[in-house]
Amino acid sequence: MSRLLFLFAVIAVVYWLLKSYRKQSPKQDVPAAASEDMVRCTQCGVHLPKSEAMLADGKFFCSEAHRREYQSK
Ligand SMILES: [Zn+2]
Repeated sequence: MSRLLFLFAVIAVVYWLLKSYRKQSPKQDVPAAASEDMVRCTQCGVHLPKSEAMLADGKFFCSEAHRREYQSK
């Protein structure tokens, strides 16, 4: 009987591990930024989330400095 209980405990632990592993893996597989639109800095070409980008003349920039740099050309 104790062997059956042990087996049951092992199954429960394996099940719990699989469950917690599956809970974590989507976060690791899909970067947080992937859920958000990515845009490209017109000046340096770096990719960044749209919410962090600066928009000027319909173009995206990673920073105020690059926006100025691009527009001063
Ligand atoms: Zn840039």
